[in-house]
Amino acid sequence: MAVPKRRRSSSASRQRRMHIFINPAAFTLCKKCGKSIRPHVVCSHCGFYKGKEVINVLSKLDKKEKKHKEKEIQELEKVQKKESPLKMDDLSKQ
Ligand SMILES: [Zn+2]
Repeated sequence: MAVPKRRRSSSASRQRRMHIFINPAAFTLCKKCGKSIRPHVVCSHCGFYKGKEVINVLSKLDKKEKKHKEKEIQELEKVQKKESPLKMDDLSKQ
């Protein structure tokens, strides 16, 4: 049986292992509600993907939870609307 001629130095093994690591998970912001989500995945908070509702998030909740969640989503949408559009009037003031 073939046997290695000499022991691999710690430097050589570390150089080999330099490329063995886990990349940090990528995150983007949901265009509907603004929560941070994985790219190319349906938003678990509002159930939207590419501007269309894919999952009805509210269907499995009871009355109290439903009301709370609807309020939360509306507030997030309000915040996004305030941040996103920059009109010419606003720019001239700045
Ligand atoms: Zn969302």
